[in-house]
Order: sequence, then C-alpha cells, then structure tokens
Amino acid sequence: MKGCPVCGMEYEDYPALSRKGNCTKICPDCGTREAVKVYTLYSQEGDITFIMEDKKNITSVVGFYFGEPDEEATRIFRGKLTAEFE
Ligand SMILES: [Zn+2]
Repeated sequence: MKGCPVCGMEYEDYPALSRKGNCTKICPDCGTREAVKVYTLYSQEGDITFIMEDKKNITSVVGFYFGEPDEEATRIFRGKLTAEFE
C-alpha cells in the first residue's frame, strides 16, 4: 500500500505524477483532480456565478449559484450540475 501525500488515502493502483513538479507520486484520484482546471464565470446581468471545468479540450459547466464568485460557494456547488459542450 502506498500513501498519497495530497489526500492521505492509501491506494493500490499505479500512482499518478503530480503536475506541481518534483515528481511527487499521488493517487489516481488526485491526479485526475489536478488535471482539471476549475474557474468561475460571473454574469452581472443575472447575478449568477457559473462554475466551469476545463478537462483537456472539454469545457463543462459543473454548477452555478447566485451572487458573486465565492471560493466557499464554488466548493459547495461544484458538481451539482453537469452539462458538456465541446
Ligand atoms: Zn490522493
């Protein structure tokens, strides 16, 4: 069993290499998480913040909430909605 330095989970699969440099071996779940870029889009008109994910060439809207971008809200509402367009 190997321990992941990021989430502390033990895993048996092949490790992923952290993109944050220095060849740190992390678990496959964290590897997937690092490959995804998360950012927010704010619509002033509707006072809505959309949570976006960039995965290679695919951009997905993975959630939204009312109000201006807020780190805490992004974390809570992320993954509550799935729509993909390429
Ligand atoms: Zn991990």
